[in-house]
Amino acid sequence: MGEKDEIISQILYEMVGNEGIKIINALATPSTDLQLEEKTNIPITRIRSTLNALHKYNIVSYNSARDEERGWFKYTWRLNEGAVELSVKNYLMAKLMRLKREFQEITQINFFKCENGCMRISFTEAYEVNFRCKKCNGVLKPVDSAKESREIKEEIEEIKRIIATLGPSPYNLKNVG
Ligand SMILES: [Zn+2]
Repeated sequence: MGEKDEIISQILYEMVGNEGIKIINALATPSTDLQLEEKTNIPITRIRSTLNALHKYNIVSYNSARDEERGWFKYTWRLNEGAVELSVKNYLMAKLMRLKREFQEITQINFFKCENGCMRISFTEAYEVNFRCKKCNGVLKPVDSAKESREIKEEIEEIKRIIATLGPSPYNLKNVG
């Protein structure tokens, strides 16, 4: 397995878990959920919920046809061509944006965190509740934003490295705003 395949597998695992990966592999040929159950030994309810997750990421699509004998609809699922890599990239881009926002926030606002880890809130909010956690009454302590921002920065760099390894996106979108 090349580095690229390994990265894609890792990110897919984050997105849809091991069962999602199994189902993607099983969809080398288009299949119904029952056929997928046979191929993967994953319980049918989990196959269906995983198919829904994969569908949400636009990795799979389905055709429906009426089963003439039984009178119900039969759904045949298939992989969308090129969709795995594209959805992995989209997922990474969304994560990157979220981390950048988090980074910006944490370097601009003084945060306080419950000593028991329940919540992280801004100074103003912490001041209003007298530096006590609303959930557990624990003490709210100032967050070491230098450490957290360093960790976020590292994660951002890691994702950028991964995206670079995956190569250019099929689209060359313009930066807006
Ligand atoms: Zn608490």
